[in-house]
Amino acid sequence: MKIYNTLTKRKDEFKPIEEGKVRMYVCGPTVYNLIHIGNARPMIFFDTVRRYFEYKGYEVNYVSNFTDVDDKIIKAANEEGVEASVISERYIAECKKDMQSMNVKPATTHPKATEEIDGMLKMIGTLINKDHAYVANDGTVYFKTRSFKDYGKLSHKNIDDLQGGNRSLLVSGEDQKEDPLDFVLWKPKKEGEPFWESPWCNGRPGWHIECSVMSKRYLGEEIDIHAGGEDLIFPHHENEIAQSEACNGKQFARYWMHNAFLNIDNVKMSKSLGNFFTVRDILEKYDGMVLRYFMLQAHYRSPLNFTAEIMESAKKSLDRIQTCHKKNKDLMGSAASGIKEEEKKLIEESKAYVGKFEEAMDDDFNTADAISAVFELVKFINSNANADSSKEFVEALDNTLSSLCDVLGLIIDVKEENLDSDIEAMIEERTQAKKAKDFAKADEIRAKLFDMGIVLEDTREGVKWKRV
Ligand code: AMP
Ligand code: ZN
Repeated sequence: MKIYNTLTKRKDEFKPIEEGKVRMYVCGPTVYNLIHIGNARPMIFFDTVRRYFEYKGYEVNYVSNFTDVDDKIIKAANEEGVEASVISERYIAECKKDMQSMNVKPATTHPKATEEIDGMLKMIGTLINKDHAYVANDGTVYFKTRSFKDYGKLSHKNIDDLQGGNRSLLVSGEDQKEDPLDFVLWKPKKEGEPFWESPWCNGRPGWHIECSVMSKRYLGEEIDIHAGGEDLIFPHHENEIAQSEACNGKQFARYWMHNAFLNIDNVKMSKSLGNFFTVRDILEKYDGMVLRYFMLQAHYRSPLNFTAEIMESAKKSLDRIQTCHKKNKDLMGSAASGIKEEEKKLIEESKAYVGKFEEAMDDDFNTADAISAVFELVKFINSNANADSSKEFVEALDNTLSSLCDVLGLIIDVKEENLDSDIEAMIEERTQAKKAKDFAKADEIRAKLFDMGIVLEDTREGVKWKRV
């Protein structure tokens, strides 16, 4: 199994630290409002990574944090006149609902920063003792970036280039850093902010220290995979490495995985530009499975463009898989028992699609190609399973289909009404096309429906349809 590792800039063979086990940490959201579909990309993708490891027989310890102390949370709390915890607890609960809608499994542990302060004080204390950190006059604790000789190894940046770019920071006198590259581990409280006592000042932690501490507590000093969106490579993950390795004296994470960004209409999605959708916005129109399918039909290291057209096509594609599964279930209900010899051969043949699926997933979790293999299997099932098939045959093929979809986290068992409404929408589209004398389009829709196992009958009362 190969994983593209940001640290080595190549696909590395995956070798777990402990045989049969995977320890992975995925940086989670800052909870100050509803998550947007950009946040959903790492959630869905890394959940799929976890599912694939489980499919391969690994036991996965999956940790994903909630950042529940942060400037944006405090600002939202002050605006509403409530405690910061009211805001963070509200949006953690909402985030969990969204995760469920997208069939993202709960992590083994979802630690919250505010519940891990003791661990942070301890790690900061160790860094000070080891001379990797220092306390400024106002009680701010800074990490001494130059004291960590490998700084820049993840983002492949040269420390001296960084120094040049940041010189203005020091000159501006905004802070009391010894070096502009140093970053905050602990900062003094400001009026109206939540704070904790510490040996240095009453205050709160910097963002980076949270993840180093939570990863160590729940997964140990050395982990297999650390992941998140590519915006986190620098400085967040670079700083996590510096803190953890300076403190523990061991390699923090072996594989660093980063998903590319989700754009909207080819423009980077961002709150400040106002061009973002929350997951909740999308769930008003689509089932969470459509969003999941949309995320997985592209490679995770490619930027993904969100458009209404691509969502519509994701919906149709998912529908095709679900219709195949539904048809299989109907056939199983009526088929006779007694597998035939040629069916056994066909079952053997169908294993090629499982092979293709695994090959794609083994190659740095290429979900786009894995989905293509699922489609080939759907085509194979549609052309080989019919009213004359044995129950065992249809069951075997359908189990294969279900298990592959399960790895992708795609629920294919859906209420029939959902599908019917989609079919009816397509029939209506065909009727309109015919009215507009666009017969090519009408025929195309009829063919598409046929692929989905639907046949149409034009009657005097209108179009009737049935499943074949
Ligand atoms: P945040 O709440 O901003 O810390 O983000 C939580 C996670 O979502 C991080 O792993 C981010 O890298 C990721 N993320 C945020 N915005 C996007 C986006 N537009 N596309 C993909 N991932 C994103
Ligand atoms: Zn993090």
